[in-house]
Amino acid sequence: MAVLFSELLVPGWADGEMIGLSDVTGDISLPCHNSAADLFFDEAPARVAMAKSLCASCPMQAACLAGALSRQEPCGVWGGELFVDGSIVAAKRTVGRPRMTPVVIPVVAAECDADEEALAS
Ligand code: SF4
Repeated sequence: MAVLFSELLVPGWADGEMIGLSDVTGDISLPCHNSAADLFFDEAPARVAMAKSLCASCPMQAACLAGALSRQEPCGVWGGELFVDGSIVAAKRTVGRPRMTPVVIPVVAAECDADEEALAS
């Protein structure tokens, strides 16, 4: 039985040999498999943005997003989108009352590169 990467409960957490992921993805290197899995389930907006940026370079992004939509993923970044309770949302709600004005969170490329290197080590 083949296990599609998009059917995994948690992207990147499963070891390729444990679930046969390498049999499905072959030599394709998926960004979420080379990053800390909790990055894709983080609460911090900057970390969510980083996860989304990693998905942007993924060759399986469209299929991953379609799978997440069909499964109505309860949480996490899948296919470059943030899911909450099965729906795509722009951002997670923070604790407390909603802000009256939206908060712009800049993502600095150099900061992302530094964080990716830290995660890789
Ligand atoms: S789109 Fe993102 S979550 Fe999906 S396989 Fe690619 S890197 Fe992983």
